Order: sequence, then C-alpha cells, then structure tokens
Amino acid sequence: MTRERKHEWGAEQVAPSAAMLDEVARKVFLQQLAISFDALRISNSAVVLISSITALVLWTSELRPWILAWLAMTVLVVGYRLGIARTFAKSAGPTVEENISYWHRQLLCGAAMGGAVWGFGSALLYDMDDLLNLTVIPFVLAGMCAGAITTLTAFTGATVLFLGFALLPFAGRMALEGGVAANVLACVTLVYFAFMVNFTRRANRVLVGGLEMALLRSHAEETIKKQALFDDLTGLPNRRLLQDRLAQALARSQRQHTHAALFFLDLDNFKRVNDSLGHSVGDELLAEIARRIQELLRDEDTAARLGGDEFVALLTDLSADGEELLTLVRRRGEELRRAVELPVRIRGNEIHITVSIGISMLDERTTNLEDLLKHADTAMYRAKDDGRNTLRFFESSMQEALDRRLGLENDLRSALDTGEGLQLYLQPQYDESMGIVGAELLLRWRHRGRFIPPDQFIAVAEDCGLIYRLGDWVVEEACAIGARISSLANDRAFSLALNVSPQQFRDKAFTAKVLSGIEKWQLPAGLVELELTEGLLIEDVEDTVSKMQELRAHGVRFSIDDFGTGYSSLRYLKSLPLDTLKIDQSFVRDVLSDPGDASIVNAIIYMAKTLDLEVIAEGVEAQAIHEFLAAAGCGKFQGFLYARPMPLEEFEAMFRVPGSCVQLTSAGHAL
Ligand code: C2E
Ligand code: CA
Ligand code: CA
Repeated sequence: MTRERKHEWGAEQVAPSAAMLDEVARKVFLQQLAISFDALRISNSAVVLISSITALVLWTSELRPWILAWLAMTVLVVGYRLGIARTFAKSAGPTVEENISYWHRQLLCGAAMGGAVWGFGSALLYDMDDLLNLTVIPFVLAGMCAGAITTLTAFTGATVLFLGFALLPFAGRMALEGGVAANVLACVTLVYFAFMVNFTRRANRVLVGGLEMALLRSHAEETIKKQALFDDLTGLPNRRLLQDRLAQALARSQRQHTHAALFFLDLDNFKRVNDSLGHSVGDELLAEIARRIQELLRDEDTAARLGGDEFVALLTDLSADGEELLTLVRRRGEELRRAVELPVRIRGNEIHITVSIGISMLDERTTNLEDLLKHADTAMYRAKDDGRNTLRFFESSMQEALDRRLGLENDLRSALDTGEGLQLYLQPQYDESMGIVGAELLLRWRHRGRFIPPDQFIAVAEDCGLIYRLGDWVVEEACAIGARISSLANDRAFSLALNVSPQQFRDKAFTAKVLSGIEKWQLPAGLVELELTEGLLIEDVEDTVSKMQELRAHGVRFSIDDFGTGYSSLRYLKSLPLDTLKIDQSFVRDVLSDPGDASIVNAIIYMAKTLDLEVIAEGVEAQAIHEFLAAAGCGKFQGFLYARPMPLEEFEAMFRVPGSCVQLTSAGHAL
C-alpha cells in the first residue's frame, strides 16, 4: 500500500520578524542596564578611594570645610548609587522588565550625580596658586572621566551626563578665574569633553552592536535547534526527537523492567477537511488535535507529529503486566480516540474528525526502534481497514498481510506497465428464451501462474490509486471487445456490461474516456452498459447524475450492481437515468431456502417493473432457482447454471451459434 504524500506543513522561518527584532532590542536594553549597574560597584569603590586620596593630598586648613563638605557629598552619592545597583541586582527578571524606564532613569540620575561630585568638587577646591592642587585636580578629573567612560559606556546618555556634570563646572570655574592659563585650561577642558563624548558614542556603538549580534545569534541557534527537533505547526517534537525519546524509553524499560506503548494516530479523511475548508483550517485543526493529545499525556510521555495528519504518542514507565497492561493501554488509547472525536469549531465550522490508532508495545525484548514505529503504523492500517475511528494492537500476522499486500501492489503495477497477465473474461447474460443478450466483463489477473480473485486485487488497486489505470485499461479493452462482438451480433440486441469502481467513476476524465472509446470503435448505442454500485449513487448525487446523463445521451446504459445490498432510496432510482437493476447474488443464492430473500427478490422485481426498469438476476446456480426467478417475472439471467466467465474467443464461439444456451458445466473455465 503506498502512503499518500500529504501536505507538508509550516514554512521555514528564515528572516527575523519585526516582533523578534523588538524582542532583541528589549533584551539588549536589559543587558545594557545590567552591565551598567554591575560596573557601579567597582567604579564607586574607586571613587571612594580616589576621593579619599585627593582629600588627603589637598588637605589644608583653608580648604578643610570644603573638603569635608565635598567628601560628605561624595559618600552620599556613592551610597545612593550602590543602593540602586543593589536593588537592581536583587530584582527578578520580570520586575525589571516591567520597570525598565524607571531603572534607566535611576541610572542616568546616578551618573549625573556622580559627575556632579567631581565637577563641583574640582570647581570648589581648585586653587590657581597651589602647584600641587594645580596638577592633582585636572589629573584626577581626567582620570575619573576616562574611568566613567569604561563603566557607563553601555548608555551614551549616562556617560554624557557624567562628563557634562564633571567637566563643565570646572571649565566654567576656569573661565571665571580669568587669565591666560585659566582660559587655556577652560578650553582644554571643553575640547577634552567633546573628545570624550565622541569616544563614548563610538564605544557605545561597538558594545550595543556586539550585544545585538550575540542575541541574534543565540536566537537563530535556538530557532534552528527548534526547527530540527520540533514541528513548526503544532510545536510538538518531530520524528527525530521522537526517536531520541524512544531510545531513552527503551533504556529505561530495560533498566527498570517497565513497559512503554507507542500509539500511531492517523486522522480519518483529513484530506476532506483540507479540500473542502482550505489548508489554513486544516492547519488549525491539526494544532487543536495536537493540543488535545498533549493534554492527555503525562509529563514523562511524549507526543510527536510525524508530518501530515500523523501523530505519535509514546507512553512510558508503565509498570503493569499482562492483561492488566493491555487493558491500561487500551484505555489510554480510547481516551485519545475520544478526545479527537469531540467536535472542533474553527472559523464558524463545526468539524467532526475521527482517528485510527495503531498500538505497538515496547518492552525489554524490543531491539529495533524502527520496527516499533512500523508495527504501530501497520496496526493503524488495520484500524483503518476495520472501519476507522478505532484502535488496534499490532500482531505479527498483520505485518505478513501488509507485506503480501505491498507485493501485490508492486506486481499489479508492473502488470499494468506491460499489460501482461490481465484479461477480460465474459460471462453471458440470457433472456427468458435463453438467448444470449449480453455479457458482463470480469477482470482476470494471472499472477505467478495462478488467478487472483478480482475481489482481492481490485481492493488493493482502489487503496493505492492504481484503480484509475486499471479502470482505463478495462474501458479501452472493453471497447475493442465491444467492436468485435457487435460485428458478430448483426442486429441482435446485445449489451456489454463493465464494472466501474466508484473512484473510477468520479475521475473527472472518466466520461471523456468512455466516450472516446465508443467513438474510436464506432460502437452502436446501447452496447456499452456501466454497472454502478448503490453507494456511488448516494454520494455526490449531483456529479453522478450529470455524468450519467452525459453518457446516456451517447447511448450508454446503466445498471445498479449488487442491488439490494445498499441503501438506494426510491426517489433516487426514479430520478436517475437507469436501465437495469441487478439483483445481488446473495439473495438469489438463498431464494429457495430463505423466505426473507424470496420476498426481497420479489420486491425488487416488482419495483423494477413499476419504475420501468429491466431486472437481471446474477449468481444463478440451479435450475430450481431459475424457475423461481422466471415465475417471479425476472427478465434476464446470469450465473454458473448457464455459463461461467470465459475468454473472448470462447464467448465468440458460443455467441455465433444462435440460441446457444444452458450448459451446467461449461468449457471448464471455472475460476
Ligand atoms: P460482481 O460485479 O458482483 O461480479 C459477479 C461475480 O459473481 C463475478 O465474480 C462472477 O464470476 C461471479 N459469478 C457469476 N455467476 C456466478 C454464480 O453463479 N455463482 C457464483 N458463486 N458466482 C458467480 P468475479 O469475476 O470474481 O468478480 C468479483 C468482483 O470483482 C465483481 O463482482 C466486481 O465487483 C469486481 N470486478 C470484476 N471485474 C471488474 C472490473 O473490470 N472492474 C471493477 N471495478 N470491478 C471488477
Ligand atoms: Ca458486476
Ligand atoms: Ca454483482
């Protein structure tokens, strides 16, 4: 069975989004704050040390009050700044983030005060007549400013404030002092200020740029890591991460002698949601299903998405054993199934989706993890085959059946490539006087020396999509056969019945293919009859009716195959361009022994008459059955009683003899 390639979800995110850039900018700002506050401890210790030394060096009795006042101011400012730094360090991340501008203001304020301490100190304490003072103050001032640049450079504003408050009062004082030397010193101070501001801006750019780069890189690395291990759409682990978790689960189950269960979930008919409501609704549905699965799992379990509508749930550390374990796992599987089954509302649509679940168990004896996934997948297919919306445990017989089926699919594909082994047999259909009035074409495939029943390989072809090619082959071949028979038939009424799979009939090109075959072989009107099933007539009625009408306009006849086993309503029967009802062989077989079947057969014949339709009984195996049917008013007959399906040449030989009829054991083409 080929797995349908489903839509791949989620585009890769390559370029950073605007939201992400905002986030980076915010993080950088926080880091700038952290760097600045962190540097305050060292820089303020330096301030205390240097101001103390400066005070000692400058100590004279005239300056004493000023020095003491200055020292007191310094201690206050240092205390304030260290206090702020401490509170900042203690505040947890989100608190800082919420008050980001408060902290920024505090920092600027502290920087201004720090600068002011030196600015006013130097302005107050400067003495043009004292050589020591003359050298020490500018030297200390320049040193402090250089130091401030290194510690405050994370914010240009803070550095500029510090420099401004530190240098401008001194420059002002020099300007007021007058005299050449003082004026020169004032100018030098201003130049120094400008130079330092410029330098600060550059240093700041380098620092902030570096921070941004580092953050962007770590963000990119995180995204890459996430994309490599997580599914974009649902946020669930992907196949790769699941494999890791599986390996861990295996190791744990070996160590602790516990079990684990792997659930393979595949949504039923998910494609329909995509086709009818669009991919974005499909995406939302997948995300919701993922959420529901995740919600049901414990922390130690893993939910993963393998792609498309396939999910996996890995339940680990299950300590139960035997029956108890299986009951537990089944219960958990049922919980998952029911959770998916609950309707989902998306953009005004109420969506009902179901899931098929395959389960494989992992224990100490498990060796191959790939097999485990494969087994759960196989069991999931069994759940699908058994009618969907259910769960199945893996059994080794399933794998064998699946392998056989896969083999059959491959062989059927090559048979179609070469046309080898495929053949249409004809089973004659008779009227009341036992004249051949038609034949049903039945597909035969000789595979590895034996015939495979069409019931088997047609189901496989329908499953894997080969039915279209197979159906096309049947139509072409049937038209060629039709041409040969109609040349023999002269004016005898004759119809050639083709079995049509519902899928094949729904193919957009189906009508055109049939009509082009009819035209190519110049087949007379009424020769080609298509056997449709009741199911096809009920589903998608509009499309079916319009196709039938188009074909009918070109002389194609229609019959309902296996009539009585489906749910056709009388209303449909009346409105469809039908010619024949074909009573299902299960009723015919037991018509003599089962009064219920007898009444059904009678009712169908009566109904056909009322609706002005022909009626044919298939599967007639005994003379007594034939008599019953004839008495009930059935007009046409087909079955082993008259003839088995046979190759064209044999049919032609039989057809050439007018009135060729009943032979209970025909030429030995029993299949
Ligand atoms: P069906 O359309 O109901 O075909 C009638 C089946 O009953 C045929 O089986 C035929 O050989 C068998 N049969 C005829 N008379 C008797 C009888 O007296 N007794 C019993 N027990 N059986 C009788 P076959 O050929 O094995 O085909 C099985 C099914 O495979 C068909 O059922 C049809 O659904 C499908 N099939 C066959 N050929 C084609 C084809 O070309 N296209 C499609 N889509 N389906 C086909
Ligand atoms: Ca049929
Ligand atoms: Ca049938």
